[in-house]
Amino acid sequence: MSTVRVRFAPSPTGFFHIGSARTALFNWLYARHTGGQFILRIEDTDAARNTEEALNVLLAGMRWLGMDWDEGPEVGGDYGPYYQSQRGDIYRKYLDKLLESGRAYEKDGAVWFRLLGERYTEYDSYLEQEVEKVRSEAVTIKDLIRGDVVRAESRDFVLCRSDGSPTFHFVNVVDDIEMKITHVIRGEDHLSNTSKHVELFKAFGAPVPYFAHLPLILKDPSQGKGKMSKRDKGSLVEEYQKRHFIPAAVRNAIALLGWNPKDDREVLEIGELIELFDVADVQKGAARFDEQKMSHINFEYLKSLPVETYAWFARPVLTDRPWCSEDLDEDYLQRVLTICQDKINSLEDLPNFSIYFFTEDFPLDPKGLKKFAGKPATIEKLQQALAVLQDVPKADWTQAGLEQAFARLAETHGMDKPFPWWPVIRFAVSGCTGGPDFVPMLVVLGRDRVLLRLRAAIESPEFTDVESAQS
Ligand code: GLU
Repeated sequence: MSTVRVRFAPSPTGFFHIGSARTALFNWLYARHTGGQFILRIEDTDAARNTEEALNVLLAGMRWLGMDWDEGPEVGGDYGPYYQSQRGDIYRKYLDKLLESGRAYEKDGAVWFRLLGERYTEYDSYLEQEVEKVRSEAVTIKDLIRGDVVRAESRDFVLCRSDGSPTFHFVNVVDDIEMKITHVIRGEDHLSNTSKHVELFKAFGAPVPYFAHLPLILKDPSQGKGKMSKRDKGSLVEEYQKRHFIPAAVRNAIALLGWNPKDDREVLEIGELIELFDVADVQKGAARFDEQKMSHINFEYLKSLPVETYAWFARPVLTDRPWCSEDLDEDYLQRVLTICQDKINSLEDLPNFSIYFFTEDFPLDPKGLKKFAGKPATIEKLQQALAVLQDVPKADWTQAGLEQAFARLAETHGMDKPFPWWPVIRFAVSGCTGGPDFVPMLVVLGRDRVLLRLRAAIESPEFTDVESAQS
């Protein structure tokens, strides 16, 4: 069999929608699975909408998701140019072929495609006029997902408008012929165009490619019913980029929109996706976008990243904040992340979750204030803790060293365990009522910070002043 050649053929609109990304990904996966070629072709014939910026959104999104193309913009290839706006000469040549063979004709300034078959006129209640129709032979669309789809066209259609601009159907097919595309994998919304396209392939005497029409993507249930639209929350690739999702996780989640590995696994690394993916296994029925699943998969990726990689993703998220120094120490960062990594669901949550590791100016959770501030027991516990902790030398400021110190603290007060002291210490040193495991948090914060914050809390009116706590 000849090499598989597939293409992603977006019309840049300034948005990279999850649905487009899915089409791109399924083409890319199929190319990588079969050892074929993945071509990126820019369908930019609508000059008004196709700005440089719109193109960049698309290319940046493709790169972010790690979908490299073998031919296309910035890469070149044997079948370029890969922008439809630059292929006018090719379209003219192809149009001439049809005019010469009689399969195209001019009418009212436009060039039309002539269907073969018996002609008759019929009143069209929608157009409210008599229209010419053709009893054309049905064509068979070989669809790898839906099986054979048999459809007939009933009217001639325009190839080139009176202003000279070629239509989508025409250029799309010419490019697929010229670029030797073997499989057309695209959204189900194009199925209604495909019989026209098959007619064109045949009229040019070109081999008709296989088709695979990908199922519709429905909205996340939280966004209502029906087809997912670019206005829905979570529907643009860019959003996940901004929210610091892991690109491999987003790609993994997109791969599951209409395809699955035939078991219930949701986390598949890229090598597995490539190995297992086959376009023939894509489901016919609509897929549903599920933002929670996207977040869940992202969390699974985050949890499993080696801390060095996690830190690589996390650093810019933190240094972006005014309270975090640009030259954040890498070793300290990694120690912080080691204890936070599996406690937060997304990198978006990291700054609020970890702020107190990076600045003295951390906020105090109002819930914690309500619980601890203005209570004599708070100050008492903090003083007891300080007395014990300040006796721990720097060298013993370790998990084991602190556990021993806390055991002594409990014993002194006739307790089995030191747990009654922990929440208030945690609140004093972090401003939070929850967070990473307690003793590891103290270890990472370090002796100086912990003692400083305990002393500050004991003296702070926010903690001691009964009245201000009640106001
Ligand atoms: N430019 C078309 C689109 O964005 C391409 C359709 C196709 O893949 O054939 O929908």
